Amino acid sequence: MSAAIEERDKKKITGWKERLPSQRQIYSGLLSLAGLVIIIIGLLRFPQYENPSILLLLLFFAIATQSTMTYLAGGNVSVSVSGAISFAVVGMYGPIAAGMAAAIAELGLWVLSLKTKERDWNHEVERLGVNIGIHAISTLLAGIVFFWVRGLLGTGSFFIDSIPWFVGAIVGDQVNFWLLAIIIYLAAGVPPKDVFKENRWAIPMNVLVMSIGGGLIMLAVVQFGLLGLAIFVLPIILSAYSFRVTVNNAKKQMEKLEEMVTVRTQALADANHKLEELHKEKDSFLAVLTHDMRTPLTSIRGYGSIMRDRELTREQQTKIAKVILNSQDTLLEIVNNILELEKLQSGVPILLESSNFDLALLVKNTAESLETQALEKTITLNYDQIPSPIMVTADMSKIRRVILNLISNALKYTPESGLVSVRTLVNGRFAIFQVEDNGYGIPADELPHIFDRYSRVKGHRHLAIGTGLGLAIVKSLIEAHDGEISVQSEENVGSTFTFKLPLT
Ligand code: ADP
Repeated sequence: MSAAIEERDKKKITGWKERLPSQRQIYSGLLSLAGLVIIIIGLLRFPQYENPSILLLLLFFAIATQSTMTYLAGGNVSVSVSGAISFAVVGMYGPIAAGMAAAIAELGLWVLSLKTKERDWNHEVERLGVNIGIHAISTLLAGIVFFWVRGLLGTGSFFIDSIPWFVGAIVGDQVNFWLLAIIIYLAAGVPPKDVFKENRWAIPMNVLVMSIGGGLIMLAVVQFGLLGLAIFVLPIILSAYSFRVTVNNAKKQMEKLEEMVTVRTQALADANHKLEELHKEKDSFLAVLTHDMRTPLTSIRGYGSIMRDRELTREQQTKIAKVILNSQDTLLEIVNNILELEKLQSGVPILLESSNFDLALLVKNTAESLETQALEKTITLNYDQIPSPIMVTADMSKIRRVILNLISNALKYTPESGLVSVRTLVNGRFAIFQVEDNGYGIPADELPHIFDRYSRVKGHRHLAIGTGLGLAIVKSLIEAHDGEISVQSEENVGSTFTFKLPLT
């Protein structure tokens, strides 16, 4: 029970504490109040000023430079120039009038920079109060210091006369900076010394513009009245404008450069990608050389040594000679494939020695020639479904190569006692050849790359010798005949390779 009451009291206290203004709000309030007081005193004193029209014009130019230049040139330049105008007021009308000028310039800028949409009035009013306060206080203090130093040094030489301007400007700039740093600290928690480090480059510029600008504006007004002021301020506004144009152009150039960099980077990335592909191909080529050529070479060497070192019967010799010749055939096929593919992919068009022939007959003969190979693996090679004739106009030796390659692949990638069926048919304007097996099949993720050169199914490498070049050659040859080749396959179920050629 008492714990609940304590809890409630705690809530009450924290609720009450939450309603207290924060340090930031108190600080902003004090700044706003100071700014307001300075403006009011300045306005009340207006009737006492000698030549109030010049003061009015100075106020107008302070607002004009502050606001136009914020838009034309960007923050820092505008603050310094309107600071110079306010500071010029010091020399002619005293510190209070100068503080008022600085505050009014901020008011003008605030009105112009009010965000039209989603206006948060609490925030906007605080922003105005803080800016007015900071600028009014810093200019007022700069003015007081100006008169104090001038009182100390008196007037005389140009050098002595200019010292109060510099000292006043330094004080004005620093007071302005630290008042600002405090609000940044209270609002965002950034330590003032960090803000100082980041902005110290602007100090000399602010001080020079305020002191020299302020002194010269006063001189111009004292010498030439209103005209002097116009002569001074207009070129500044114009140069701010040209500065803005230059900055915009530089920005555009930067954007163009960035665009160029993006394009070049993309080109480099593409080139890099191509290089990587070439690199992969080179690796595959080396793999073919090292693995697939080494196996037949090793058996040639092994059986050669046996023939040299042992007494062999005639029968054994024939057997060994057969193995050596087979290995030599494999090597020759690999070398021929590599050379052939290089030729096919060099961009030179493939020369076709076309003739009219019966595709069905060619398929039958080629399948027959592979029967021994099928028998060795006890595979049933079925080519009964071949009607005759199916006439096509093509390069017969090249089409034989294609058929040979596809059927021997089917035999190669089908385990013992399997079934390989070869068929030809006519479909519309096309002659179709199909070889179907119930062998190892091709995994779905490797299927799209199966016609790429050097591409071999990973799991097949230990099952049969191969280079991964055959299907790439087959595809080039069929495409050279305006034909199409495709494959359907399922792992451990089987594959069907199909090509079609236009009928004669
Ligand atoms: P090679 O047979 O010399 O490796 P190919 O280009 O003829 O080269 O074939 C590429 C790969 O495609 C083979 O290594 C094999 O993995 C796969 N492949 C070709 N034909 C078949 C098929 N009928 N069944 C299963 N996989 C096949």
